[in-house]
Amino acid sequence: MSYHPPTTPCLSSQEMLDYTQGILSTQEQHRIEMHLLDCEFCADAIEGIVMMKNPNELLAIEEDLNFEIDVMTSHEENARSKVKVLFPWRIAAAFALIFVSTLTLWMVLPKKMYKN
Ligand SMILES: [Zn+2]
Repeated sequence: MSYHPPTTPCLSSQEMLDYTQGILSTQEQHRIEMHLLDCEFCADAIEGIVMMKNPNELLAIEEDLNFEIDVMTSHEENARSKVKVLFPWRIAAAFALIFVSTLTLWMVLPKKMYKN
């Protein structure tokens, strides 16, 4: 097993939603399928969306971070399950961010150090 960094940018939640709803053009759908072959994080996120009863809630929740904080601090069982569904996407986003910043640092830092 080896890790291959995705060759295409990670999918936005809107792209994932459109994909699961099958409303994309053949070209767009192909691009997303190619990325999913490369990126297990987006593939996991898509899987999570497919399992959601109301996938559109994903965007609604994302648009309102305050609501999300309310959900996380809420004691309602229903609210908790929403957080669970969102969780894999959060990990994917965090990982992508870490990966990109590490890569940027790795490319930028050595050059600066050699100059000094
Ligand atoms: Zn991805």
